[in-house]
Parts: sequence; C-alpha cells; structure tokens
Amino acid sequence: MPDTHMQTATDSIDAMQAVLDRQKAAFESERHRPLSDRKADLEKIEALVKTRGDEFAAAIDADFGRRSKSETALAELGFTIATAKHSRQHLNKWASSKPVSVPMTLAPGKAYVRREPKGVVGIVSPWNYSMQLAFAPLVAALAAGCRVMIKPSEFTPRTAALIKSTLAELFSEDHVAVIEGGVDEASAFTALPFDHLFYTGSTQVGRIVAKAAADNLTPVTLELGGKSPAVIAPDFDGAEAAKTLAWGKFLNAGQTCVAPDYALVPRGSEQDFAKSMMHETGEMWPDVATNGDYTAIISERHHARLSEMVEEVRQAGAEVHQLAFDKAAAGNTRIFPPTVVVNPPLDSKLMQEEIFGPILPVLGHDGLEDAARFINERDRPLALYVYAKSKQTARDFLSRTISGGAAVNIPLLHLSVEDLPFGGVGASGYGSYHGESGFLTFTHERGVFEAPVWHPSRLIRPPYGKMFEFFKKLQAG
Ligand code: NAD
Repeated sequence: MPDTHMQTATDSIDAMQAVLDRQKAAFESERHRPLSDRKADLEKIEALVKTRGDEFAAAIDADFGRRSKSETALAELGFTIATAKHSRQHLNKWASSKPVSVPMTLAPGKAYVRREPKGVVGIVSPWNYSMQLAFAPLVAALAAGCRVMIKPSEFTPRTAALIKSTLAELFSEDHVAVIEGGVDEASAFTALPFDHLFYTGSTQVGRIVAKAAADNLTPVTLELGGKSPAVIAPDFDGAEAAKTLAWGKFLNAGQTCVAPDYALVPRGSEQDFAKSMMHETGEMWPDVATNGDYTAIISERHHARLSEMVEEVRQAGAEVHQLAFDKAAAGNTRIFPPTVVVNPPLDSKLMQEEIFGPILPVLGHDGLEDAARFINERDRPLALYVYAKSKQTARDFLSRTISGGAAVNIPLLHLSVEDLPFGGVGASGYGSYHGESGFLTFTHERGVFEAPVWHPSRLIRPPYGKMFEFFKKLQAG
C-alpha cells in the first residue's frame, strides 16, 4: 500500500521547489527592481488592508473562535498599514548606496556600499498575529526588492487562505507566493535553498529551522519567544504599574510574543499587586465569557495546556486569582479567564516554559540586584519591562540585564516604534526587523572599491623595493 501521507508531502515539496525555481529565474531577469515599482508593491499592500481589512478581521476571528475586533484593528490591520507606509516613505534613503572613506594609502578611489536585494526569501509565520507576522516581513522583503514565499501557520487556516488568495490577486506567483500546509510542508519549506529564511515561532522549532537552513548555508532570522519579565522597582507604585501591565499581559489573551510572562515585584507586595492586576483586568474586560474584546485561545490543545499549568501550581499550594468566569455563558468558545498566580514553585511548568496565555505569575524580589540576578540566571528574554520612577534606576537595570528589546514604564510599545530594531537575543532568537533593520535583513550590503584606470597601487608589487618601503611607512602612519 502506498503511504499517501508521504506522497502528499513529496508532491508539495516538488511544487514548492518549482515555485522557488520560477522565483529565482524571475529574480535573475530583474535583479534590481526599480524603487518606484517597490513603492507600488507597498502601496498595493496598504490598499489591500484598507479595502479588505474586514475580511481579514473576520477570518482571524473565525480562526481564534473569538478575536477582539479592536485588537485586530490595532495589531494586525493598523500595524501592517503603518509598516508599509513607513517603508515606502523611507525607501529612497534606505536603498541608496552609502559612501565610505578611503584610506590615504588607497587613494585615489571611491568606496561605497551597494544595498542589493538578497534574492528569493522564505517567510514562516505563526498563528498568534497571523496577519501582522506574515505581512510585516513581507513588506520588508518587498521594500528590499526580493521575491517572497510565505508559509503561514496551520493553526489559522482561514487567514492563511485569505493571505494566499488576496496576494495572488496583487502579485504574480514568481513575485509573491503563499504555501499552505502543516508541519510536513513547513519542514519541506525550510529545507529549500532560499537566499534568506525568516522564521517567527517557538524556540524549539527555531532550532530545527536553523539546522535545516544550515545545510543550504541560507542565512536565517529567528524571531522566537521566551519568558519576558516585568520588574517593578521599589520606587514605583504597583497599582499604577498594574494599569498598563494588565493590558499588555491580557491583550490577545496573553498570546503575544512580547507579553510580560511573569512579574517581579518588591517582596511583600505580591498580594497587593495581584489584587491590582485583577482589579484593572476586571475594569478592562468585564464578563470575559461573553466580552467580544477578550480573545479566545487558539486551540483546545493550547487551552488544555494552560489549564494543566494552573492546576499544577494550585496543587502545589500557590494562590491563584482568577477573574469571575461564567462557563455556561462562554459556551464552546475557548475562553481562558485572566489569571494571576502568586509565588508559584520555580520548577513548575508555569515558571519553566513560556506561558503564551492569560496567566501571570507574580514573584517577590529583594531589590533590583536580586531581580537582575533572577533574570540573568535564565534564558535571554525577547522583551524586558522595567517600571521605575527614576530614569536612572531604569537605565541601570537595563545595563545589568540582556534582552531582545525593552520598554520602560509600559509594556509592548517598543515593538510599534518602526525605527527600533525588533528581535531576540540568545534563546529568543537572532537578527531583527522593522524599519531599516527589516530592509537590511533582506539586503546584501555589497562593498565596492572603484579605482581609476591607473592606480598607484600598481607600484606596490614584486620585486618589492623603495616604493614598497614608502608604502609601508605610509600605512603605519
Ligand atoms: P511554532 O514554532 O509552533 O510554529 C510557527 C511556524 O513554524 C508555523 O508556520 C509552523 O507551520 C512552522 N513549523 C512547525 N513545525 C515546524 C518544523 N518542524 N519545521 C519548520 N517549520 C515548522 O510557533 P507557534 O506556536 O505558531 O507560535 C508561538 C511561538 O512563537 C511562541 O514561542 C512565541 O513567543 C513565538 N513568537 C515570536 C514572535 C517574535 O516576533 N519573536 C512573534 C510571535 C510569536
């Protein structure tokens, strides 16, 4: 009996390879897509989101079982338009050659960096912001003049199908192509010899992707996750911090790569802080069971995992605060109520794995040095949030720690500043994007030295004599 599963995977590998071959051929025929065409590409993306944003919002809502329309407007539609517009407006500057100075010993001549498209790039995107995380790297790659293949997450199939059909209306397949499918397709996709591979997802899969890319010497950007801490300094009012932390944590029901994963608060204030978090959350999302602004969990499996995490620490005796939740009213939606856990055991799943859901562990620290030690003993986080009244205290804390990005007195918003590089460090990934960083991710910086027809360096050749001695002196300064 033939193995139909294997057959399908092989078919799709061949089909993907064929698309890649066509894109590579198209790239060879137009290595330097004119800037005016690239700007037109970005305008198409802006127009698509403006005119068909409702369809995307409906697809995302259906994939999640409930996704806040406002959160979709903010984090998917608005974000995509903003990033496309920003790239379009700055493209001339980013794409221009950058002159560099020529050392006296090599004069006369000109040296400069040409910013050239890398070629055909692959983008693998996750489900949690299923539009933004496919479109933001797409925008950067198109701005850089690349051709693009995208593999969206299998957990958001309606969004993936809409991304595929709408992009197919705007771009030829040899310019932008979307490959649907699950893990088999994803692993075949990441084994293709792209000129760059851009992966957003878990650290665990990131390791597999990096290995697959290494076989082709394909450069990779890994936008991964991790446990991003929020630290409250002793000089900062915890109730005040809870006002913004509650939003940053429970937005998209905690399914945000840069969501604060756990909070470190001055020891003794854990209970008060947990109550403030519950209070602020209840104000923002009353009646989570039926509140259209509170997002559901992506799958039954993810929901069950979160329940198990809470059950484990409850059994271990940790205090669990949970927003009142009317299960019957929630019906079949995969709603998980906002939850705050005080001092869970450090060896619990809750403190060992990235939570990626609406549960916030709160732990006590004995001062900022202690908080920094706690963070530095663990994997490098994607984001770090520090709440401190004194700017100096916050900056000192940043100097004591390492994270992909950081924000002071507010969660998440560093991600929305287009000109800040966005990416991880250590276990939270490598490489970055957004703004010019994204453009450079998909760009090859080609160093060029232009000599005149006759260049004095001709004189420096064997048999080495007086000119060589003179050159050596000049070089030594
Ligand atoms: P995931 O790693 O399970 O899946 C992401 C993508 O990888 C999907 O398209 C999937 O099809 C593909 N994939 C799965 N198995 C693969 C394999 N063996 N080989 C190649 N590709 C494979 O991640 P997820 O559950 O969709 O997303 C959650 C994780 O992503 C969290 O850890 C979160 O922090 C992280 N994340 C990071 C960022 C960021 O910008 N750094 C943004 C969003 C999410």
